[in-house]
Amino acid sequence: MLDSKLIREAAELIRHSRYGVAFTGAGISVESGIPAFRGADGLWNKVDPIYFEIDFFRKKPYQSWKVIKEIFYDKLSDAEPNISHHMLAKMGERGFIESVITQNIDHLHSKAGSKPVYELHGTYKQLVCIECQSEFDLNFANFDFLPPTCYVCKGILKPDMVFFNEPIPHFAKKRSFEQAEKADVFIIIGTNAEVFPANTIPVKAKETGAKIIEINIEPSQFTESITDIFLNGKATEVMSALGALLYLDDY
Ligand code: NAD
Repeated sequence: MLDSKLIREAAELIRHSRYGVAFTGAGISVESGIPAFRGADGLWNKVDPIYFEIDFFRKKPYQSWKVIKEIFYDKLSDAEPNISHHMLAKMGERGFIESVITQNIDHLHSKAGSKPVYELHGTYKQLVCIECQSEFDLNFANFDFLPPTCYVCKGILKPDMVFFNEPIPHFAKKRSFEQAEKADVFIIIGTNAEVFPANTIPVKAKETGAKIIEINIEPSQFTESITDIFLNGKATEVMSALGALLYLDDY
């Protein structure tokens, strides 16, 4: 049962924000049919994370690709943004938020129309050659034979998402911290706060004066430490309620 008083308080904060920023994790896309990594139905209960380690990928690209293709490429292309992604896009159109920072690689914020979107962990939509760094749109990749290879140098293509033990893209990281520093309202949706350095971005927002609204089905590491308003519920339910109070459907 959603707490309507807290939802009204959060809507007022967002309505009067000067510089709102959203920060999302796997939880926002669960209701689009993409499992989160952790938790009871999480991916790590079914798949060995080793396939997502960069050293393993370099040594055994075929094995990694077999798993990654099945999890992300066979299923993700059909996934559609849910009401939470759409509400964030409308919040952007209405000027309630200035940007979306996401840890997700599913491209659903862009598909919903949000901009700018800072993809901290990259995107499945693009492939990059591990030899010559050429980049290719997913639609140009040939998955008939794994691993897919580069059209320029025949090197192995890797999904342009951040694997374990890889650094996060410089541009997205820099912009995300800048956004956090500018924010006066920072909305965290569906993330556990376990992945470094992404988990330090909301902390930066808090330190520089932002009010923190958090939406999650259960408390995270942020809840007790930095969150001002915790909206306990599924992202789609909470975002629909916020959307109604902000008249986003009328736009
Ligand atoms: P996580 O899997 O560690 O945690 C998911 C969080 O979402 C949890 O706090 C959970 O309580 C919450 N949650 C689950 N269902 C929800 C719902 N319906 N509404 C609101 N909250 C819900 O994910 P994370 O913290 O984002 O970090 C893990 C890493 O996983 C990230 O780096 C991300 O790149 C990657 N990841 C991405 C996707 C994707 O692109 N959709 C999917 C799985 C993992």
